[in-house]
Amino acid sequence: MATVTFQDLKAKAKEKHLKLDLTLLRLAFDYAEQAHRNQARKSGEPYIVHPAKTALTLMDYKLDQATILAGLLHDVPEDTDESIHEIKKNFGDEVAFLVDGVTKLGIIKYRGLERYIENLRKMFIAMSADIRVMLVKFADRLHNLETLDALPPDKQRRIALETLEIYAPIANRLGIGELKGQLEDHAFRYVYPKEYARVNELFTSVYRKRADYADKIQKIIRKELVTEGVIPIDIHGRTKHLYSLYKKLERHDNDITKIHDLIALRIIVRDVKDCYATLGVIHKLWKPLPGRIKDYIATPKPNGYQSIHTTVFCEGGQVVEFQIRDEQMHDLAEHGIAAHWHYAEAGKQSAIPPKKLEWINQLLDWQKQLHNHRQYLETLKIDTFQNRIFVFTPKGDVIDLPEDSTPVDFAYAIHSDLGDRCAGAKINDRIANLKTHLRNGDVCEIIIDKKRKKPNRDWLDFAKTNAARSHIRNAIKR
Ligand code: MN
Repeated sequence: MATVTFQDLKAKAKEKHLKLDLTLLRLAFDYAEQAHRNQARKSGEPYIVHPAKTALTLMDYKLDQATILAGLLHDVPEDTDESIHEIKKNFGDEVAFLVDGVTKLGIIKYRGLERYIENLRKMFIAMSADIRVMLVKFADRLHNLETLDALPPDKQRRIALETLEIYAPIANRLGIGELKGQLEDHAFRYVYPKEYARVNELFTSVYRKRADYADKIQKIIRKELVTEGVIPIDIHGRTKHLYSLYKKLERHDNDITKIHDLIALRIIVRDVKDCYATLGVIHKLWKPLPGRIKDYIATPKPNGYQSIHTTVFCEGGQVVEFQIRDEQMHDLAEHGIAAHWHYAEAGKQSAIPPKKLEWINQLLDWQKQLHNHRQYLETLKIDTFQNRIFVFTPKGDVIDLPEDSTPVDFAYAIHSDLGDRCAGAKINDRIANLKTHLRNGDVCEIIIDKKRKKPNRDWLDFAKTNAARSHIRNAIKR
């Protein structure tokens, strides 16, 4: 049975040139292994395989030490008795904060797509203090998808669908193209099994035929580039992700001959100047298809993606797409927002324009797509980050409230009836006074008294929200 040892982590750190405190990494590994010692994954593997694989993915993305440790520890509070406080004590505030964030994202339950999206949206904002929380969640999800076969079919479908509908679009929004492709391809198989089989077969047959051809083109272009004084750092065939091919086929009447980027070559060069020189060399060799030249270097995509794309009539009239970019652009295209950390750590200037680095803008951009409501966004920006808290219902819905809100505010935020009949509250499973200030991430349950018709006047002394206060006043007047 496949397992992961500390040696695997150590080897990965070396391979990726990560500067990690190996003693601390070892401690975290042992700590997680110990915490999960009595658990097995549904796949039968020892539980440690899951957090270890999560950490390995985060290492592939060259994330910082705190994120990698959080990957190792991410299921400790959720699945075991170990508390977040102990993680804080052993591994520090930063790691504990990330683990806590991942745990809270996990509380959200799937109950209908629309509500789920709304909840996720709120949560991502709530966790906006640190996007690394989401990166850990992505890595966690990737391994869960890899072991999805072990779960019952309805659960497989739910997780896969959720991945296609929510996780992949967010990964895309953050520019993490490679991860987005992986998430989608894993999920594709479970959500649309027949279509998956069809596209997979089609792709394999077409691809085999074209692999030799792509090799030939690669040799021609390499030779010509060198002649023209451009040094190609790397030329490789781009792997086409199956789900994106499926979506493309759908847009083109399922006619594979209409898809122009089935043969795609990627050329990585030293700098921007060489990118444009390469474009010139390609167009000198082969005739470009009209309207298919896209300069994402001059005009990057909203998620920061940069490259030049061109599609040409190649040898024998075959249509081939080229993507041209420098190394930093390539790194960014594969790793997106995650690339920020290793640039920051290496003290290098990031390839991402400073504005794009503000990942919060990206989240807000994404918000804009959902809401398209500028004023709302402005309020959100101010409110959310300074003085909003997010409190869960026992069913996993998220209620956002101003700081210092109480269970009374929480009850009225859900429904005025619930507020009026509120008799008590449980916060994180403990009976709590109605005056208690709720904290970000609390799970609150309202205990109701069915016989009660009116709220208590005294609640006005501590109710925080306008909604609660006006409801209480009106109910008393009635
Ligand atoms: Mn997990």
